[in-house]
Order: sequence, then structure tokens, then C-alpha cells
Amino acid sequence: MRRKEPVRQSVAVSLVLLAALFALPLGVIVPFRGELAPKDASHPTEESVSDGRLDAGTVLRVLNGETVEEMDLGTYLVGVVRAEMPASFPEEALKAQAVAARTYTIYKIQSGGNHGDTADICTDSTCCQAWIAQDRAMENWGADAEEYEARVEAAVRDTDGETILYGGVPILAVFHSSSAGMTRAAGDVWVSDLPYLQAVDSPEPEDSIPNYYSRVAFTAEELRSAILAVCPEADLSGAAETWFSDAVTDAAGSVETVTVGGVTVKGTQVRTMLGLRSACFEWEPEGDGLAFYVTGYGHGVGLSQYGARRMAEEGADYREILTHYYTGVTVEPYSP
Ligand SMILES: [Zn+2]
Repeated sequence: MRRKEPVRQSVAVSLVLLAALFALPLGVIVPFRGELAPKDASHPTEESVSDGRLDAGTVLRVLNGETVEEMDLGTYLVGVVRAEMPASFPEEALKAQAVAARTYTIYKIQSGGNHGDTADICTDSTCCQAWIAQDRAMENWGADAEEYEARVEAAVRDTDGETILYGGVPILAVFHSSSAGMTRAAGDVWVSDLPYLQAVDSPEPEDSIPNYYSRVAFTAEELRSAILAVCPEADLSGAAETWFSDAVTDAAGSVETVTVGGVTVKGTQVRTMLGLRSACFEWEPEGDGLAFYVTGYGHGVGLSQYGARRMAEEGADYREILTHYYTGVTVEPYSP
């Protein structure tokens, strides 16, 4: 959207540069941000915010809404970390997020990605990874903007090129907000199992996570239309309290399978069908429908962001966090 307002953008970037100068007395070294104006107006380029040498060697085509923007990998990753993890998190957690995001990006590029010849990756969190431009992030951060931007940029720069490898190959480094005390194996959530995406203990502290426990209620009619849209063969002839049964859960309570109107479905399908925050759920009758009680947020596979925060608070560095959440991996510099 801001691409249609080049004047406002330049003003915003100037303000950011000015603000960056004031951040210097805090002892924070803010990298030089490159040119003020895009090199090519028809293919605007995000201002470079990363001086990592390995990351700078890879240029990405990033689909942002309707526009494809070119930027180096480091600059792209700063935008991902801004969007994907609270910038107030400990530096080692931010670094773990930066390395996971770098690895996920390289994996996407090497596996062909979701956008064919149009772009390498997009800014939609439901498709690839969330991404936010510097000016918009700093607007959202308000008074903490300079400090947060510096923290995020440092997390990317200080892990320049570092990638999570399994057998020397970049992994599908998926991550999520918070698990239910244990992550989930890829095979329990999606179609195929991956050796490095296994269930591991996750230490997220429930009391400090917003909406760690959530509750959502549905009338019988709401449930009926949501279920039949996904499972048209489900038999919903009785009362709503009889529709869900026989949940098979893992050790942390995430639903692997459950019977819905006589049809066995995955817990993740119920999560999607009802818009639950995770597949760790229980239910009880409410009115003529059901209320669902849900723990955690996200698919539960790979790095838990709140688990990473807790590990960092307890002294773990980003490599320890990553090798905990991804089984049998190494973290090493890698050039795609
Ligand atoms: Zn995408």
C-alpha cells in the first residue's frame, strides 16, 4: 500500500534514519540503511537493513500483496522476525526465530515454493511467513520502536547465514506460537513424518502467555454447518452433545483423531473446521451446542516461540533452543 505513496514513504524513511541516529547513544549500532529511494520505481526494493555478508548474497523476490519486491535475504528476514515474534523477547529467542525463518525460506526456495515463477516467497502468514516493513512495524511499536528494531536487526545480523541442517540439508523449519507443553510430530499433524520434526517437551510457561487457554462456544446450527462443509457424510441426526466422541490424544492432550458424526477425522481438521487456536482441545455441552476449551496456539510442530522465550530466560542460547526443538539437526553457516 505504501508503494503508492512514494513521498510519504521517503518522509517516513528519513524519520526512521533520524530516529536511528538517536538510538546510537544507547550503544546500539544500527547498520547503514542504504539509499533513500528505491533503485527502480517499477520494481521497488525494500531498504537494506542487514549487513550480514552471507545473507546479502541472496536476493529474493517477495510477493507483498499485489507487488513483487526484491530484497536481500537479511532484509527480508528482519521483516519476518518483526512480524513473527514479539520484539521484546530475549535476544537468544529472537536469534532462534531468525535462524528458523532463514531456514524455512531457503527450504521454500529449494523446494520450488508456493508461487511458481512469480516470487520466491510471500508475506502472507497463512501461505509462507508473515513479514512487515520497517515503517509499519515502527509505527506499531510506538515508543519502543528504535530499541525493538535494533534488537530484531541484531538477531538477523548476528546469525548471518546460519541455517538448520539435517544431513547437511536445510530443513522445513516450521514454528508456532505455543504448544501444550509438548510439541507434535509432523506426521501426527500433516501427511508425512519428518525425522527432525518429532514431539519434544516444551517449557512454555502457561501463566505468561496471552490466551494460552481459550474457550469458544458454538450453537448446534453453527456446528452443523461447519462440520458438514468439511465432512458432508457426517451423521448429525442426534443432539449436538453426541456428535464428537472417541478422541485419541497424545501425551500433552493434543487430539490426534476424533470421531465426528461417525466419521474419524484428524484433530487438526477439527481445529481448521472450527477455527480453534490449536488441536489441543476438549469439549462439553453448552445450550444446544458445544463449548471447546483449547490450550496453546498454532499447529504445535517445530519451534515453540514461547518455549524458546522460556529457554532463553533460563540461559539457553539460540543453538541450544534450535537443537532442542528440531531433532538431530546442526546449525551452521550455509549458502543456498
Ligand atoms: Zn506464499
